[in-house]
Amino acid sequence: ADAYAGTLVTYGQAQAVIVATGDSTETGRISEMIAKAMDLSTPLTRKIASFSKVLLVAILGLAALTVAVGLLRGENAIDMFMAAVALTVGAIPEGLPAAVTITLAIGVSRMARRKAIIRKLPAVETLGSTTVICSDKTGTLTENQMTVRRIFAGSTFFDVEGSGYEPEGRITLDGVDVSGKIPVSLSETLTAGLLCNDARLVEEDRLWRIEGDPTEGALITAAAKAGLTQQAAGDAAPRLDVAPFESERQYMATLHRSAAGNRLYLKGTVEKILAACSTSLTDDGSDGTLDRAEIVKRSDELASGGLRVLALARKKVDGDRVELDDCLSGLTFLGLQGMIDPPRAEAVAAVGACRGAGIDVKMITGDHAVTAREIARQLGIGRDRGRDGENPATLTGRQLEDLSDEDLIEKAETTSVFARVAPEQKLRLVEALQARRHVVAMTGDGVNDAPALKQADIGIAMGITGTDVSKEAADMVLTDDNFASITAAVEEGRRIFDNLVKFITWTLPTNGGEGLVILAAIVSGVTLPILPVQILWINMTTAVLLGLMLAFEPGEADVMAHPPRKPQSPILSGILVTRILLVSALMTAAVFSMFLWQTANGYSVEAARTVAVNLFVIIELTYLFNCRSLTRSAFKIGFFSNPWVLAGSGTMIVLQLLFTYAPFMNSVFHSTPIGAMDWLLIVTVSIGVHALIETEKWLRFNVMKKAR
Ligand code: ADP
Ligand code: MG
Repeated sequence: ADAYAGTLVTYGQAQAVIVATGDSTETGRISEMIAKAMDLSTPLTRKIASFSKVLLVAILGLAALTVAVGLLRGENAIDMFMAAVALTVGAIPEGLPAAVTITLAIGVSRMARRKAIIRKLPAVETLGSTTVICSDKTGTLTENQMTVRRIFAGSTFFDVEGSGYEPEGRITLDGVDVSGKIPVSLSETLTAGLLCNDARLVEEDRLWRIEGDPTEGALITAAAKAGLTQQAAGDAAPRLDVAPFESERQYMATLHRSAAGNRLYLKGTVEKILAACSTSLTDDGSDGTLDRAEIVKRSDELASGGLRVLALARKKVDGDRVELDDCLSGLTFLGLQGMIDPPRAEAVAAVGACRGAGIDVKMITGDHAVTAREIARQLGIGRDRGRDGENPATLTGRQLEDLSDEDLIEKAETTSVFARVAPEQKLRLVEALQARRHVVAMTGDGVNDAPALKQADIGIAMGITGTDVSKEAADMVLTDDNFASITAAVEEGRRIFDNLVKFITWTLPTNGGEGLVILAAIVSGVTLPILPVQILWINMTTAVLLGLMLAFEPGEADVMAHPPRKPQSPILSGILVTRILLVSALMTAAVFSMFLWQTANGYSVEAARTVAVNLFVIIELTYLFNCRSLTRSAFKIGFFSNPWVLAGSGTMIVLQLLFTYAPFMNSVFHSTPIGAMDWLLIVTVSIGVHALIETEKWLRFNVMKKAR
């Protein structure tokens, strides 16, 4: 059969010969034909766009009104037109949408450095308001470094020593090495694990690692500790066919030819395998009676220690194909293998960080409920809502199936661990959480996880172990498959949003100030203190050199110490709106009165306008330092903690000197050199505005807060 590049393999295994790569494939040809355009709009940019539209209409209305009033008063029509243009240019925040998109894009690259690749821009913003993270257990919250610790075979528990995949360590019974006198039941349990296996154990420079599924790798290492190798087992019983493991099926089966006829080996979950067993292999290798209750008890014993349990079984068959239909009957039970998969150390810290940030973490796994709950407990998941003592509330896939949608909405919120969950159930879970207005981040790696990833507010795929289908459906891909990277991305998301709010708080007063100055001039019949081309100069240079630098602002110390932002809440709080109005008013008052005073005292209009432009820019510059934190003192956050702001400010000052003193700038912008006294005034007023805003912050967030 032929397969195109980009063909998604939903299950099974195959070998293929690659005949073309990259642009010479069919997919490459198509992608060349369509230049893909990424959708850059996000909820925030859409809000801003609609805000801008309303603003535009209002400002145009105001401009038309001023022209009309001016004309009625008998002013020159050309002057009035210039004034209207100046008002429009000044009051509209042209740079805002672009700055927002650029800030988000800068955030994307910062997230990539923290191992989270954003596939869809809106995710950057949504991440900041995430309220629930549903995470896979195996590999994301845990290391996925499996080591078999205990084996139950015949009627006994054996302990397995050693760690990692290195086949060094003894298998012991009550502390005594069993090598040399290994009971048949134990050797068959180990052999089944070796044969029913697609992984490979490899050694490189004395480092042992596995290729394939870690769960299967652990079984190879365990067998090797008893001197059994894949090579020897495969020679004695060559494989005829295989049905690989699938989470939905809960087992794997392989068919082998052996001296005793064809034999099927199976491994899988205890529930699935045990239900299909009718006899049990005894220590001496004969078929004995099966004590189901005993095995379930033993399995729970393993699981309660946090071990992942696999049951192994075999069966004699006639055919030489694996027939899934009659795999699950008449099996002979061989034994259980329990393996540890330690929680990732950084995941414990990350779960704690989420708790502090008001984000609920839920674990989702195909593992047994008892195993899952123990690992969740070790991770600190559900710590503050334990049901029985300190154990987190747990729900199994079977229980989930029986719940109505309404009950699930209730349960989804209060449950922390979802065990033996089939991928399809993840979708129901996401929907149930969203019904309570949660902003849900959901991880997934398999093909069947795709619908849940699509439905989640933030679908997160695994970069290493994830299937292409899941990555395709995801908003974000983790390059290290690590839960801690999700938390890092959430933190970045919050930081980016904070920085956007800082930018907006910084930029709007500029427009407010410019608009009001022009308006004041028109109303009082004074020459324009600032020309349209000068306004354009201010808006363009300051937005890039000053405002954008806020995108590099390091996070506030308490980004992860407050609950998530509600998506429907307004971008600007009442406090910030007040501050924006205050700064607009201060700018207007400073610039307008300075202009009046200077023109009345013998300054040329050009000189007074040059002072006005510089005053605008330098106030914006000092106000930028106010905006580096919206609540904390500018001094507390460290003067040098954002070098970009310093570099931008320095460049801005150089540009203003050029604007004021370079002859070609003078001719383009109608500016003219000014004196040292003017600079002293400009700097004094700007520092005054800065001090005022700092005082406002201090009063509001220290004095008033303490008084309350
Ligand atoms: P998870 O979502 O935690 O990765 P899985 O669906 O992979 O869970 O595994 C669920 C259960 O299936 C495990 O507890 C184990 O009993 C069994 N299992 C896991 N991997 C394999 C495998 N490769 N072969 C057979 N059984 C497996
Ligand atoms: Mg798995």
